[in-house]
Amino acid sequence: MNPMPSTRTDPLHYLSVELDTLKEQGLFRQLRTLEGEQKAQATFDGRSVVNLSSNNYLGLTTHPRLRERALNAVRELGVGSGSVRTIAGTMALHLELERRLADFKHTEAVVVFQSGFAANAGTVAAILGKDDVIVSDELNHASIIDGCRLSRAAIRVFPHKDVEAARAILKELPASQRKLLITDGVFSMDGDVGALPGLCDLAEEFGAVMMVDDAHASGVFGRNGRGTVDHFSLHGRVDIQVGTLSKAVGALGGYVAGSRALIQFLQHRGRPFLFSTSHPPAVAAACLAALDVLIEEPQLIDRLWENTRFFKSGLQALGFNTGTSESPITPVIAGEAPLAMRLSDRLFEEGVFAQGIGFPTVPRGKARVRTIVTATHTRQELQFALDVFAKVGRELGIIFREH
Ligand SMILES: *Cc1c(COP(=O)(O)O)cnc(C)c1O
Repeated sequence: MNPMPSTRTDPLHYLSVELDTLKEQGLFRQLRTLEGEQKAQATFDGRSVVNLSSNNYLGLTTHPRLRERALNAVRELGVGSGSVRTIAGTMALHLELERRLADFKHTEAVVVFQSGFAANAGTVAAILGKDDVIVSDELNHASIIDGCRLSRAAIRVFPHKDVEAARAILKELPASQRKLLITDGVFSMDGDVGALPGLCDLAEEFGAVMMVDDAHASGVFGRNGRGTVDHFSLHGRVDIQVGTLSKAVGALGGYVAGSRALIQFLQHRGRPFLFSTSHPPAVAAACLAALDVLIEEPQLIDRLWENTRFFKSGLQALGFNTGTSESPITPVIAGEAPLAMRLSDRLFEEGVFAQGIGFPTVPRGKARVRTIVTATHTRQELQFALDVFAKVGRELGIIFREH
């Protein structure tokens, strides 16, 4: 039987109109498809490329020790946890991971969420309410912004890393006001490091809760990858540290490290913890193995930083605008979105994958390709990438100098 022809107009038609606008602005992207493993030289869309777009900083996505632990967990415990943490979904592996992370971070306790996004959004939304104020760096991650909105607290944004501007905001607030001061540890689009020491001083001066999102610093900054709080020796001065298990740690998840009271509160009020199923055992097992690797194979982090210095200085020597990066994330700022997307496409055709990023992820006029090196890139792979950047950069008129 044929369905009745419908005379109803599509109520979602406006989405197609918006997509057409994206296409006109050069902001419409097809998803690239990874074929095979996530690694330094990888195959996307059928092409083998030097992969400068992954957060797999230490190569742990394919590390034999993580693979083995995850496989054992699948064999012994199956593929799913079957419940949220607060009902039947807390396994011994989840608790072991939280204990190990708390030791690693030198905090009283840790709670793991399904993702870094859930950790940020769930935590900020849980600990603040409509009578409170959040003082937030303008470039903080979307998951922080969403958490702020969900909390219904007032949101006061200060210009990027501007401690004096944050102070001016805090000074205007009544002493009795509950306040959260929040920054990324490493900013994901620029690769620069948050103004942690100055913000910690402010938090103490004005009695604010201090929170740092160390997603891109986990496994990258600090001793054995303990993050920016360790990097700046700020132990005991940051009330809430968020880390991710999805980037350098190589698997999936996010966590909050802090006092026992904070963690117990989040176990009762963190909505992703309460209302979304916990990690499969293989994920917790892989993260436990990753912690062993961070402790026992610190040479991976050394190699990450050697590669970072080599590649960043190479891009700068070619004359590219790499912004203010201080981390393995190095943006190559092209200007308008169509040029950044063209740069990314041409790099890809020549064998280098660096994702183009435009508005609204970064401000208009600051569209870029973002490069991320890892510990597992070889010198030859990075030199090849620099040679391709030089060729394509000149071709598109982004750099001019001869070498
Ligand atoms: C990636 C990222 C997150 C989200 O982490 P996931 O584990 O991928 O959900 C949070 N904050 C920042 C700054 C990030 O870069």
